[in-house]
Amino acid sequence: MLPASLFTAKRFIKPVTPSGRHVSKRIAASAVSTISSSFSTHFFMSKTALSMSTVAPQKQQTKSVNNLLNELPTNDSDNELLRIRHSSAHVMAMAVQKIFPEAQTTIGPWIDNGFYYDFYFPETIDSETGERIESRKLTVQDLKKVKKQIDKIISKNYPITREEVTREEAERRIKEINEPFKLEILEGLQEPISIYHIADEWWDLCAGPHVESTAIIPKKALALQSVAGAYWRGDENREMLQRIYATVWKDPAQLKQYKAVLEEAKKRDHRTLGKKLDLFSIQEGAGGGLVFWHPKGSKVRKIIEDVWKDAHEKDNYDIIYTPHIANLNLWKTSGHFDFYRSDMFNQMEVENEEYQIRPMNCPFHCLMYKNELRSYRDLPIRWAELGTVYRYERSGTLHGLFRVRGFTQDDAHIFCLPEQLEDEIIGVLELTEAILTKFGFEKYEIMLSTRPEKAVGSDVIWEAATKALEGALVRKGWKYSIDKGGGAFYGPKIDLKIRDAIGRQWQCSTIQCDFNLPERFGLEYASAEGTREQPIMIHRAIFGSLERFFGILIENCAGSFPFWLAPEQMRLLPVTDAVHDYCYEIAKKAKKRGLRIEVDRGTDRLAKQIRNAEQQRVPIMAVVGMKEMESGRLAIRSRQLGDLGSYVVDDLLIELSQCAQDTIEFTQMGDVEEKEGC
Ligand SMILES: [Zn+2]
Ligand SMILES: [Zn+2]
Repeated sequence: MLPASLFTAKRFIKPVTPSGRHVSKRIAASAVSTISSSFSTHFFMSKTALSMSTVAPQKQQTKSVNNLLNELPTNDSDNELLRIRHSSAHVMAMAVQKIFPEAQTTIGPWIDNGFYYDFYFPETIDSETGERIESRKLTVQDLKKVKKQIDKIISKNYPITREEVTREEAERRIKEINEPFKLEILEGLQEPISIYHIADEWWDLCAGPHVESTAIIPKKALALQSVAGAYWRGDENREMLQRIYATVWKDPAQLKQYKAVLEEAKKRDHRTLGKKLDLFSIQEGAGGGLVFWHPKGSKVRKIIEDVWKDAHEKDNYDIIYTPHIANLNLWKTSGHFDFYRSDMFNQMEVENEEYQIRPMNCPFHCLMYKNELRSYRDLPIRWAELGTVYRYERSGTLHGLFRVRGFTQDDAHIFCLPEQLEDEIIGVLELTEAILTKFGFEKYEIMLSTRPEKAVGSDVIWEAATKALEGALVRKGWKYSIDKGGGAFYGPKIDLKIRDAIGRQWQCSTIQCDFNLPERFGLEYASAEGTREQPIMIHRAIFGSLERFFGILIENCAGSFPFWLAPEQMRLLPVTDAVHDYCYEIAKKAKKRGLRIEVDRGTDRLAKQIRNAEQQRVPIMAVVGMKEMESGRLAIRSRQLGDLGSYVVDDLLIELSQCAQDTIEFTQMGDVEEKEGC
């Protein structure tokens, strides 16, 4: 142990064990802002650096952005806001048709933070020349006109009124105004059909709810955001529509706050940072949605995988590997070929048989289960696999690492007895918390989804399984909401969303019971009485996919990975050629300790070297000159805190590797827990 440890800050930091289970209640209960900001904050602080003046402003900054989103009302929390958003969609549609009478209306729902409306612009004929004019593509200039028109409609304070009509009457009126998409919508509606009028000027089919008149919509809190293409009913064989996205809030201050969040999100965009920090790429030459992990991104991925594998092995999972393709018959047995085909890549022929690249791992695990007769004593069986799958996502939906065509699920399947279900779910919840906590995500939103109308499995088993999921959540002490009827047809499920540093929520983890696959594959175990019974199967993933989780991770820490996860933890900056070999010697020593230290090539002047290291978000750097080489000491500099003083090289490396292994998290000033021995 070092005398008067270099990183005095260790006294202010809390170790998290590799499984991450020792996070105290105090920390778990503290606001997410603390956790998230600590995640992106430095892990090394000298005594002086811990003064309020250095630390507080940085923490404050992240926190304020976080609060920006958390303080804003949502559609769930504020019914008036939801009415405003819904009414605004109609007002926007009316405005568009006033300016472009040829536009046909379709749907315009509210969404998180705003609303959209989809329009169809048919080809038109020039009345003078008789020439065909291509369907209109809306421009930014058009949006400005639309906004002006919206403001006019708002200012007129038109009443918004409801009218109920018969199906025949609705049909007659829709035909009268030539809105073919509305006719299709009408087909799916139950009587009575409700129509909403904006004065006598305009009307739309809608179930509501709306505000009473247009002036209730605060025009200074409404902004049109973008135009995007979208297929009618999401069907690529149908018409291409133009969707206008917009946001509206209850007052201009809220809109301003929301814009600040968007600004912050833009800075954190993983696609930009991925390029800038050389983490990953999508190669044109290979095709869309296929991810190339560059060396730096791969380093982070390896650590993520190691954490995941260690935690699973400690939790008595067996880690397995299965093939990436299989005979199509497997997918027929599983039902994927019938129900999931449009999301699967085409089949390939192998010796006159059809093979399928896998969109899921589950059938493989079922096959392996069937490999031998299992006894009740063998259960539960927990099989985990980092399983790479391929899905045919349409090119229009691809988005960085968030929506891709090939990705690796952190998948696992548990086969258990009905009476083991609740304990198994508890185990999954604990493991999920341990792993997510380690990566800085401690605040969750949890949804339990129950039996939908169309479902397989008996009432008895559905009830027992739903009770087990609920029981596990109650025992875990986690708050949850219920999505009645929102379960999959094959079983109830728990979905967990994490909240990032700027308050956005991401659906990652899922735990699903399945009564269908065991039936389809004829899975069995021999019970104590000697009968053959069907096990319960649980599908679960914690990250969801490694690609998507990596994207979230990048955005959460804005590219500044915590020290233990940083692809390059420290960079040596040589000021003269004479110290190059010395630098490489240090880097070699560091590597032996598992540290990731790089040496700048030294072709730039020092100021440029420092700037480069900072831009690459390297947490620690050290300038190396003749003086450093002769004394065997290094003056280290933290990217966020500046100079931290000079230290003996060997001691420094010991400290650094300790910090990296302990996954040290900085908590809060005054909210400290001493690490034993430090
Ligand atoms: Zn409406
Ligand atoms: Zn599965």
